[in-house]
Amino acid sequence: MNAHIVTLPGDGIGPDVTAQAVRVLQVIAGKFGHTFSFEQQLIGGIAIDTTGMALPRESLDACLEADAVLLGAVGGPKWDDPRAKTRPEEGLLAIRKGLGLYANLRPVKPHPALAFASPLREEKIKGVDFIVVRELTGGLYFGTPKERRQHGDHVSAVDTMEYHDYEIRRIMDLAFKLAAPRKKHVTSVDKANVLVSSRLWREIATEMHADYPDIKLDHVLVDTAAMRLVTSPASFDVVVTENTFGDILTDEAAVLVGSMGLLPSASLGKGKMGLYEPIHGSAPDIAGQGIANPLGSILSAAMLLRHSLDLAQEAAVIEQSVNEMLSAGCRSADIARPGETVLTTMQMTDEVIRRI
Ligand code: NAD
Repeated sequence: MNAHIVTLPGDGIGPDVTAQAVRVLQVIAGKFGHTFSFEQQLIGGIAIDTTGMALPRESLDACLEADAVLLGAVGGPKWDDPRAKTRPEEGLLAIRKGLGLYANLRPVKPHPALAFASPLREEKIKGVDFIVVRELTGGLYFGTPKERRQHGDHVSAVDTMEYHDYEIRRIMDLAFKLAAPRKKHVTSVDKANVLVSSRLWREIATEMHADYPDIKLDHVLVDTAAMRLVTSPASFDVVVTENTFGDILTDEAAVLVGSMGLLPSASLGKGKMGLYEPIHGSAPDIAGQGIANPLGSILSAAMLLRHSLDLAQEAAVIEQSVNEMLSAGCRSADIARPGETVLTTMQMTDEVIRRI
């Protein structure tokens, strides 16, 4: 297969970890007889410094032409001035919008050897393997009106939570399809006891379930879902929810694993195009030291192979290699216990590549 991949390394540790994911993809290409071409573009703080924009037109155009996009991270203290005209995070919103990405996928599968790093007891973490599918372009963050209102001496503010039937249909469809090769269990999270948009969500989810008779569908209220994520996280398989609930639940789910450096994510739209990035930020506190954990980015590259290039076997080889090196005790600083040997970003990747 020939594939063209745009990389957007961004700021802080973004370039360090993206470079490692590219190394892994190159090894996969060599091993399986594929040709991957890579094109690096600007996003975030570095893009602001260079062009004045967080996502220059040239970067977006390159992404629109690509088969997939691999992103590092954006932001850092240098661009934190609240009076700044442009902020690095605007690049993230612009790229999601520009590529029409409406679904964010975050798999959560703690490695047994790292169960100690989780804030939950080891027995609670055992068997946890789920994926959160978050709607990304609708709901409270985008609905209008969204404004402050002056009423004489008083002021109010309004946000609008609106969902269209087609927005719910396409994300539910994705959730059912993702569940099929897994444990065939979709948990749809809403607040249907209070919100009318959630009642529409539930109604459409139930109606669509008729097309997927071999998949189990549960409806869970968001408050219950938040509780179950810490009391019985192993009971989930595919969790699907709207934008705001998903924003909160994905962060809650992420901490179960114990380190920000380990988790990948994918943002998908129509067709095969997708944006893949580790869930962590630019980690300015460790940037430039060569000690960042590259596994979140490397596992994002595996998701890229699976979802955008239909290379499931190659994706599984990367995931297996990561599992094996973790089982063998390879540790970067963020996941090492006192006394354990600490590997650099580069050495962690070497250990993955050695096992591919
Ligand atoms: P962060 O994820 O960058 O860092 C949180 C903590 O986790 C830090 O101590 C960091 O050293 C550690 N960490 C993160 N990734 C790691 C890795 N791969 N290996 C080892 N340790 C790792 O979050 P933050 O400190 O809240 O934010 C820093 C900057 O990143 C901010 O400017 C923020 O806006 C931005 N940010 C960007 C994204 C993104 O690009 N998608 C996401 C979150 C935050």
